[in-house]
Amino acid sequence: MTTRVAVVGGGLIGLAVAWRCVQRGLDVTVYDAEEDKASTVAAGMLAPASEIQSGEQALQDLLRSGARRWPDFAAELARATGIELGYRDEGTLIVALTDDDLREVRRLCGLYERAGQPVHALTAQQLREREPLLTPRVRGGAYAPQDRQVDPRRVLAALRQAIGDRIVPRKITDLSIVDADVTVVAAGIGTRSLTGLPVRPVKGQTVRLTAPARPIRHVIRGYARSRTVYLVPRHDGELVIGATEEERGVDTSVTAGGVLDLLRPAADLLPEIVEYPVREIRAGLRPGTPDNAPILGALKAGVIVAAGHYRNGVLLTPVTADLVADLVATGVPPEQLKPFAPDREALWT
Ligand SMILES: Cc1cc2nc3c(=O)[nH]c(=O)nc-3n(C[C@H](O)[C@H](O)[C@H](O)COP(=O)(O)OP(=O)(O)OC[C@H]3O[C@@H](n4cnc5c(N)ncnc54)[C@H](O)[C@@H]3O)c2cc1C
Repeated sequence: MTTRVAVVGGGLIGLAVAWRCVQRGLDVTVYDAEEDKASTVAAGMLAPASEIQSGEQALQDLLRSGARRWPDFAAELARATGIELGYRDEGTLIVALTDDDLREVRRLCGLYERAGQPVHALTAQQLREREPLLTPRVRGGAYAPQDRQVDPRRVLAALRQAIGDRIVPRKITDLSIVDADVTVVAAGIGTRSLTGLPVRPVKGQTVRLTAPARPIRHVIRGYARSRTVYLVPRHDGELVIGATEEERGVDTSVTAGGVLDLLRPAADLLPEIVEYPVREIRAGLRPGTPDNAPILGALKAGVIVAAGHYRNGVLLTPVTADLVADLVATGVPPEQLKPFAPDREALWT
């Protein structure tokens, strides 16, 4: 008999796991509360090294594995659905406005190098040759050629199409009422109330502007007077500026201070943006965990968790989907999942 799989949560993680399970011939239903998703607010940077702040080897390996799988995942999903995902490979420019900022950029470049991602130091002039709209005041920076980006809203739309009519709009309040052989909890910040696992909301505000034509080609990760900001250009002229990082519980309000923290350094680096119309200002809730690593694996018989992807859920979507679908299909956890088990000590200390 075909295994019946319920996926609770229709963000990027739940939908990608569902897609891979469907491809393995399983009978899949997705339950989605249709509440705010981190996945619709995310910038979509696929930057395995720039996000690494800890020395945690297993997480670094997983991030790299996520990055390696993205090109094929994007090509396969785009082919299956005909939806263009905004997958781009121009890389990231890391830009410093002051001498102090340049010191911070050099530290970040060290993280890239240690994570096995080459970066090339660039002078202020070289930066402006690549991006002429950068302020002449930039001090220097670097180029990370292997970083990628994708538009998470397009990926969500494509995944929804790929799994067709298997999505049921319903909030699950108790896992015991789910009628399935295996239930995968991929409910983002909703995972805590369903499982008791320590997943907490970490608020991130973003501003989306409408640029006249592609004003910049690269993702820019900027350091301006000790403030950090990123600017992510999309093909359709959208320019995503992000993101704050706030511990405020379940709060998706947008604030003047949050917007200022984004627009001030962004305009310091790229003065022309003050002319661009505002398209959207929005906050999302990253599903954070005590050790900043996702929770992936069996919680108890018949219940698997795929949650807590914090700042890297877009990057980790393909690898999470592959490994969790393997676990669902075989009942055996792939080796790479083991460090992320729900019963690991780091979640509770
Ligand atoms: C501002 C911001 C910028 C980011 N930028 C990046 C980036 O550049 N790169 C990157 O890799 N990551 C980024 N992230 C992180 C990334 O967005 C998340 O890690 C990822 O989207 C998490 O996906 P998810 O599917 O687990 O959760 P979500 O997208 O939050 O989806 C969870 C889903 O579960 C549903 N749900 C919850 N409870 C229940 C329930 N009880 N029953 C049924 N359904 C339920 C919700 O309605 C929701 O649809 C960013 C996040 C934010 C907020």
